Amino acid sequence: MTAALLTPETRWYCPNCGHEDVTKQAGHHVRFHACPRLFGLSAPMVIKGVKAHVFAVEREDYVGHELVQTDGRGRPIMSVITERADGQDVAVYAPTARNNAPGIPPEFAHNSWSASKIFSAFITDALNNTAALDLNSDTIEAALFDNSITPSQSAAAASTAYGAGVWASGGVSDASGWPALGRPLAGIASGFSSNVFTFDANDTASANSTTTLTNATGVLVYDHTLAAPVADQGICYNYLGGANSVVNGSFTVVWNASGIMFLTL
Ligand SMILES: [Zn+2]
Repeated sequence: MTAALLTPETRWYCPNCGHEDVTKQAGHHVRFHACPRLFGLSAPMVIKGVKAHVFAVEREDYVGHELVQTDGRGRPIMSVITERADGQDVAVYAPTARNNAPGIPPEFAHNSWSASKIFSAFITDALNNTAALDLNSDTIEAALFDNSITPSQSAAAASTAYGAGVWASGGVSDASGWPALGRPLAGIASGFSSNVFTFDANDTASANSTTTLTNATGVLVYDHTLAAPVADQGICYNYLGGANSVVNGSFTVVWNASGIMFLTL
């Protein structure tokens, strides 16, 4: 007799446009669709039968030279919030960290996050073989931080690491949903096309739908496999454009279509 393998089926709907879908996938996941009522944004769907209010939130901070997510009207969107009776989910759109973004205008400078950047020590240490940074096979983590820190692109390698430099405080975490050391990137793509090297991964989601996080303002992306000379050396940081919170829900970092970071050569 053959045992039937039961793949759980999840039915989804969009309270804004009415679109419905079904996933057959084990483990926590959130279904997205391009929502015509949210001007084409890739927006999360809701489990059928759950009442919810789903709406887009504009980026709170100035855009500057950030590669932000825009909707079909060209407005910069920070996140889509799903409000339920028993909690709140957030899908937040992370801008791309890139090499050729001009500095921020001084009138916009403030003592907190201001832009998404690639660490200069990461590039130098990779090219000089100071650190064996292996982006397409190492475990790369995405750790969350609040708005109490001011990241610096030009920090020394030791101060770009998780748990060091400014990254020693201000962490935002949920014990099981999004641990302090981060969520691992899955589906990493690290390669060169045309004149651009791009580092990208699947969108990164909380481990469950019962996660609580307060004021996640930015993401530190770092190499968790690297043990020496600097353990957990930073690669880049991505500014989410404001404070993002979930309550008993799902938190998803939606990486920009241009990747987590890119280098134009
Ligand atoms: Zn929709």
